Amino acid sequence: MTNIYYQEQVLENIARKVLCGYDSALYYGSPAAVPIEEMIEAHGVSLEYQYLRKNGRILGKTIFDEGLEAVYDMENREYTLFPVQAGTILIDASLCEEDASTGRLRFTCAHELAHWILHKKLYTGTGRSAAMITEQSETTLEVQANMLGSAILMPIAQIKRCFYQLRGGRQDGQLIDDMANVFQVSRQAMRIRLTNHRLL
Ligand SMILES: [Zn+2]
Repeated sequence: MTNIYYQEQVLENIARKVLCGYDSALYYGSPAAVPIEEMIEAHGVSLEYQYLRKNGRILGKTIFDEGLEAVYDMENREYTLFPVQAGTILIDASLCEEDASTGRLRFTCAHELAHWILHKKLYTGTGRSAAMITEQSETTLEVQANMLGSAILMPIAQIKRCFYQLRGGRQDGQLIDDMANVFQVSRQAMRIRLTNHRLL
């Protein structure tokens, strides 16, 4: 399997095209939360919410080839096989249980959509899937999916616009909180995005 490495600026450009392909206001309008679930479906990818592991260790998984996936049946406390089509993103249902998980849920969706956009050709036909595992090793493919996922959820033009609109009179901590709220991402994801672009 060949790894294709995209430079950061290329990923920002891909994100802009993906966002504008859905709705150019997401990039050029007022800063707002990106409708990531609807965008996934607009790519012809179906979203399924299942318990992927009993311990919540796998947050999301992108399926490139039709097959069977093990999912955890919470009622009967056992793993069962769930038939999946090519072009499915599985999201761990535990991420839907609490409002506090909204940022993680949305980031997992964006990360998996990024795999679909960047790595479909690499995976299709291999029978492998792209899984987002907690405390995952930082392979190139994962780093790239995180970078594109961030660029889709926190469009850089919007981040800058929002940053300059809100920063007056706010401490860094408050600014991060308020911006995380606008874009419906975790504080951690927002802090990383701002730091990477030397806004903090
Ligand atoms: Zn991944």
